[in-house]
Amino acid sequence: MKKNKLIPFHKPSIPKKAVSLIAKSIQSGWITTGTRVKEFEKRVSAASGGLYPVAVSSCTAALHTAYTLLGFKKGDEVLVPSFTFCSTINMIVAAGGTPVFVDIDPKTYCIDPKDIRQKITLKTKAIVVVHYAGMPADMTAIESIARKHNLSIVEDAAHAFGSTYKGHQIGSSKKNLTCFSFYATKNITTAEGGMLMCRNADEENRARLFSNHGISRDAWKRYLPGGSYRYEVFSPGYKYNMSDIHASIGIAELKILPALKRKRLAIVAKYKKLLTGNPHINLPHDPPHKDSVHAWHLFTIEILPTSLVTRDELSEFLSLRGIGTSVHYIPNHLQPYYRKKYPSLVLPNTETVAERILSIPLYENLSMSDVEFICACINEATGYGKQK
Ligand SMILES: *Cc1c(COP(=O)(O)O)cnc(C)c1O
Repeated sequence: MKKNKLIPFHKPSIPKKAVSLIAKSIQSGWITTGTRVKEFEKRVSAASGGLYPVAVSSCTAALHTAYTLLGFKKGDEVLVPSFTFCSTINMIVAAGGTPVFVDIDPKTYCIDPKDIRQKITLKTKAIVVVHYAGMPADMTAIESIARKHNLSIVEDAAHAFGSTYKGHQIGSSKKNLTCFSFYATKNITTAEGGMLMCRNADEENRARLFSNHGISRDAWKRYLPGGSYRYEVFSPGYKYNMSDIHASIGIAELKILPALKRKRLAIVAKYKKLLTGNPHINLPHDPPHKDSVHAWHLFTIEILPTSLVTRDELSEFLSLRGIGTSVHYIPNHLQPYYRKKYPSLVLPNTETVAERILSIPLYENLSMSDVEFICACINEATGYGKQK
């Protein structure tokens, strides 16, 4: 079993159409926020069911905007899984909130409603949900807790473009603010980009203000014929706008989304077929709720204690065979900045899962023979099939 070909952890699929759309944007003389961004917003709305989209420069920007709309005051607590990318947490701090780390369900890797109930105090203001890897979180339970305690919900849907919970697309909620990421590795990309789905037109306007220097209206319109130079600053906002160049990539990506999805599902099925039966690993679960769709942003396996190699050793073994892997995520409560604030916090499920997990390649450019090779390497290294 020798193979020199490199299989990176991720490789984006950018259709040729993106190149011609970018060229047209450049030739038009308008390269920053303009008609392409508007078109991308409309298309993402149509694809996800959200009615009030605001395109921004990243999901981090979308999260900062969403948290700011909720207006945290000093001491306001925000329940959030530690098992997420640091930006989910960092932006809570940036918006003036206090993150309170919640454990995950060991099967879905999403925030555990039981632990939410234990961590609610009189200061709790909001719950942040991360649909981990594209697995929709248990929204019925979470929304019922939120209703009872009058809490807002922000959905970090960086992994969940294309996910559905009980027949409702992620992003279509009228009750929650939802944040998408179009970062290079995500299910669809604009290279860098994000989108906030607001709950009503007033919120959409406030989000546009916040993400554009606090300026009263779309700045780009003031350069059009008949546009006025006048603008008013209503609050000290940020510069979080998306450019037409980035939106051009996104528009082209949306067109190939069904094909990307089919390929992801085929790879997931192949991984499951070739790795099922290996007693030394746990495979990711399907959504436990009916009429729910997993977007399969990541394929994350757990290396169990009976394996011949630890997670780190397996990662090293695969790397020597030219296979890239990653760990999603190192828990945030164990990161130096947050550890100092919560020195004795223990989240048992998060900590156990985080020591075992390894994300393996999952993207359109992966061939089925790559998948077979990856599985053969995993089975060999963990000690499955050797005794035969
Ligand atoms: C990627 C990611 C983000 C941040 O997205 P950017 O667009 O890179 O800012 C936030 N949360 C999660 C869970 C992510 O995976």
